[in-house]
Amino acid sequence: FSRLKAGLSRSTAKLTESVTTLFRKRRLDDEALEELEETLITADLGVAASRRIVEGFRKTRFGKEVTDEEVKTALAEAIAEILGPVARPMPIDPAHAPHVVLVVGVNGTGKTTTIAKLGQQYREQGLACAFVAGDTFRAAAVEQLQIWGDRTGCRVHVPTKEGADAAGLAFDALKAAKADGTEVLLVDTAGRLHNKSALMEELRKIVRVIRRVDETAPHSVLLVLDATTGQNAIQQAKVFKEMVSVSGLAVTKLDGSAKGGVVVALAQEFGLPVHFVGVGEKAADLRPFAARDFARGLMG
Ligand code: GDP
Repeated sequence: FSRLKAGLSRSTAKLTESVTTLFRKRRLDDEALEELEETLITADLGVAASRRIVEGFRKTRFGKEVTDEEVKTALAEAIAEILGPVARPMPIDPAHAPHVVLVVGVNGTGKTTTIAKLGQQYREQGLACAFVAGDTFRAAAVEQLQIWGDRTGCRVHVPTKEGADAAGLAFDALKAAKADGTEVLLVDTAGRLHNKSALMEELRKIVRVIRRVDETAPHSVLLVLDATTGQNAIQQAKVFKEMVSVSGLAVTKLDGSAKGGVVVALAQEFGLPVHFVGVGEKAADLRPFAARDFARGLMG
């Protein structure tokens, strides 16, 4: 939490500073509200959430004298209200034997790292966990999962050759997982967004093919987004939602980010559960998402 706080306060120093200079002691008139809205948009909260927050202020406080502290507290509350409904843990049901988590997202957002961290956490909870190195074109991703597999004792299903068919690999892995008692199967996937239709076909094929083994799979589709990419993260959420039925989000790199506000924009725009936030490189740095703490952190 302290890391998240450090990251967020670094990131949002600008937001809180702007609020402080805006509202040292000031009447909340049209001009002030407009400036507040611009400040929120600049901090990546998105137009819809920024407008919603400012309209809330207009209803409750219009024409009143306010201090910067009052505004910050009220902002944190308004943000927590938007984040509250999406702060939900990722349900894992080992009775699916295994529970299959398909992990999707653009390369570099932190998919493989997130899978490794989840594997370690599930192992610590005593769950038998395995990885599928489904990004078969990226030798580095396959190697990274092998290293984490060795470290955590999670079995790793690797492609027989570079560029092997990811759907076939996932199919074999799920069959093996059913046979060896794996309880959680984490499937890594490619994230080459520059070839959108090929990527969509690949992801849909994985889903189709694993359903031949278990028609209820995948049980979770986790989309990984990099908070530092700001509005690109919003765009990626749109694109991936069209490709597969995303069930929840992991938002990474909130430790160094200047863009924590994008989580608010994501919540407002998509309403998808935010299951995890990433605040560093270690396994424990993948945290459950807590709306109130996050909102407070965002306001410094
Ligand atoms: P992938 O291409 O989506 O599989 O991305 P990777 O898992 O390889 O991650 C890309 C880079 O982001 C790596 O250097 C990771 O260590 C780093 N990374 C992932 N999550 C976080 C995070 O929460 N915080 C920080 N600081 N770095 C992260």
